[in-house]
Amino acid sequence: MVGIVLVSHSWKLAEGAAELAREMGGPDVKLETAGGLDAPDHPVGTDAVLVLGAIERAWSDDGVVVLMDLGSAVLSAEMALEMLPDDKRAKVLLCEAPFIEGAVAAAVTAKLGATAEQVATEARGGLAPKVAHLGGPEAPTAEAPQTFDAGQARSIRLVVPNPHGLHARPAARFVQVASGFDADVRVANLTAGRGPVTARSLNAVATLGVGKGDEIEVLATGNEADRALDAVRALAERGFDEEIEPEVPATVTPSAGPEAPAGALAGVPTSPGVALGVARRFHPPTLDAPERQAADPEAELRALDDALSATAVDIEAQRAAVAGRVGTYQAAIFDAHRLFLQDEMLVEPVRAAIRDDRRAAPNAWKEAVEAMAAAWEALEDEYLRARAADLRSVGLQVLAHLLGVPVPRPSLTGAGILVAPDLTPADAAGLDPALALGIATAFGGPTSHAAILARSLGIPAVVGLGESALRIAEGTALALDGDAGLLYVDPPPRLATGFEERRRAAADADREARAEAHTPATTLDGVPIEVAANVGSPEEIAAAVEAGCDGVGLFRTEFLFMERGQMPSEDEQEAAYRRAAEALGGRPMVVRTLDVGADKPLPYLAQPPEANPFLGVRGLRLGLERPDLLETQLRAIVRAAADHPVRVMFPMVATLEELRSARAAVAAAAEGLGVPMPEGLQVGIMVEVPSAALIAPVLAAEVDFFSIGTNDLTQYALAADRGNERVAALSDALHPAVLRLIAATCEAAAAHDRWVGVCGELAGDALATPVLLGLGVRELSMSAPAIPAVKRAVRAVDLGRAREHAARALGLPSAEAVREMLRTEAGAA
Ligand code: PEP
Ligand code: MG
Repeated sequence: MVGIVLVSHSWKLAEGAAELAREMGGPDVKLETAGGLDAPDHPVGTDAVLVLGAIERAWSDDGVVVLMDLGSAVLSAEMALEMLPDDKRAKVLLCEAPFIEGAVAAAVTAKLGATAEQVATEARGGLAPKVAHLGGPEAPTAEAPQTFDAGQARSIRLVVPNPHGLHARPAARFVQVASGFDADVRVANLTAGRGPVTARSLNAVATLGVGKGDEIEVLATGNEADRALDAVRALAERGFDEEIEPEVPATVTPSAGPEAPAGALAGVPTSPGVALGVARRFHPPTLDAPERQAADPEAELRALDDALSATAVDIEAQRAAVAGRVGTYQAAIFDAHRLFLQDEMLVEPVRAAIRDDRRAAPNAWKEAVEAMAAAWEALEDEYLRARAADLRSVGLQVLAHLLGVPVPRPSLTGAGILVAPDLTPADAAGLDPALALGIATAFGGPTSHAAILARSLGIPAVVGLGESALRIAEGTALALDGDAGLLYVDPPPRLATGFEERRRAAADADREARAEAHTPATTLDGVPIEVAANVGSPEEIAAAVEAGCDGVGLFRTEFLFMERGQMPSEDEQEAAYRRAAEALGGRPMVVRTLDVGADKPLPYLAQPPEANPFLGVRGLRLGLERPDLLETQLRAIVRAAADHPVRVMFPMVATLEELRSARAAVAAAAEGLGVPMPEGLQVGIMVEVPSAALIAPVLAAEVDFFSIGTNDLTQYALAADRGNERVAALSDALHPAVLRLIAATCEAAAAHDRWVGVCGELAGDALATPVLLGLGVRELSMSAPAIPAVKRAVRAVDLGRAREHAARALGLPSAEAVREMLRTEAGAA
């Protein structure tokens, strides 16, 4: 396959173009980039040596086609060519095609096994579809004229159902599929009277301008003509491999999924309990920008530019987070958001209003956004009309930066069951349990951070209900079963009464468990177990103490860093840790250092995009990459630990070297402060990467404790993304594979006389209590509402029997088998 190299002044542009081209051509296209000088530090510029490296990486004896953007990109590519030995140089083709369109066309054509010349020709024709769509001088045509005997051809006719017709992505799939046979395939748009054109050219197919509902004719000759047509028909039946929403009325008549009872949508149970109420959507937030004149228009213009740049950084972080959670395709919406910020039609009138009318940036901006959103809303195309909401959301973010206030969160207008696509951790953190009686989301997994927050707020929740949940109209009566993972739409009165009874019974059981929650939990054989709370802020501690916590086993400090414009200072952090410790009244508190990255990005901490953020620079990896952040935090923790029982814990430790670096950072923080290490400051790590569990015998010698993060441990052990509802069934922390990792950790800890806790969501599942204690866990830390029930479960555990059950569980074949055993034992007890 021909190799492709993309040379750009901009690292981001090269990466972006490559991403797009791979999306169209497929992940295995041989495509390399040379953008910027030395990204991420010097993301702009070009360098012949980098271009040479990219050519070497993309090397293929079939040839390499190099596409460049402007000016010095061309010069650097020419220099790189000169550096190549003669025999290789002859196979490299510098191609003057348009950069983006050319990259996409080249990728699709290279994948078909075309020659370097064919790839370059197709790339040169990359502008043809745009020219055909917008009019203008004729673009160079990519398609070499060929003879085609239409009289001999077989043909099929298809109606294209895709909302945007055969636009780039489905057109690329069409070309890939149609070209995979020993056949000459042509396609015509019968509705528009265009074509036929060859199916081997993305440009030619896109130039047909096939829109939604258009009829196309696909013709084929050659040995495999029938097979080619069958494959194209199958592709069309799959919606050209694009997710197409079925058209349904605004109010949904729920079509029961395979496991859903009639009238219900089935999802993933996420936070226990039942809720009755009407469907509520998030109410889009607003911000006031009082009319004011600009005292210094130049300063206002600078403020506008700063706000636009800061918002661009936020959007990149949001894009990365969504890509990590639900995939790159859904995250593409953020690329459109970024484009709003560069749209001269939007930004130029604001600049003019500031410069010429001396208006202040916030009100000029707000007005321009409103005017443009209204213009979008006046369009006929429903898809384009919906972009007004995107524009308003971006406009609000810029406005918040201009006003120097946090971006307001969407809110609920009244009590009910929140129905949303997915929740960000920040959305969930801002929910008011008095209004959000239940949470129903279309996407997301049960251990996503938003789900964890729902649990800590005690709000029943079901996630991963699928897109049909989004078509439930505001105000529709709903009944949500957070235990079974079901959402009933318009529940019949009998069902609603049953739910009301369950809600009352659960409240009674909860009251009983709460009545004894303030006494320590000891097993039947008298072993004390620390039942602690997971919190994200000092403000949550009062509720945790009220629920009967013996301490805090996990303080997720990253939430102190979110929802703000910059890092909290050392003093601010110390104050927060002290506030938390004081609210605990002498109970111990495990402070986990910053665990950002993956689905918890920091808007003001730009990180280069990562293909797999959960496997990337997150947790301690970021702390070690940015020692300034870690050091500030550790200094604040050490200061608070001077007079409070504070423990420090590091997230995402995978190796002994990381642990040693982290420990050294604690010592350095104390030394920097000129104080001795606080007496009794325990230093521990999360065991949430399988490697840490497997080398626990080595790590145990150098830690004071382990706390097992079953959320991540499960996601990594079973290779099942914790935020992806489609693999939610796989990520069950009671899987014997995870239990074996817990057993290995406990065994190693016992040999060194260290304690082991669990702070993942499994700790709050009372069914799991006997098996965890049987494996050797002695501290359980969870969302506060789960504490009373888990304390109750601890009191029923006989450790001798629990050890037997734990040993049996390790030998069982599946999570379901473990659950079954635990249910049977619980029933027998
Ligand atoms: C875990 O991974 O189990 C854990 C407790 O950490 P977090 O959920 O914050 O990633
Ligand atoms: Mg974790």
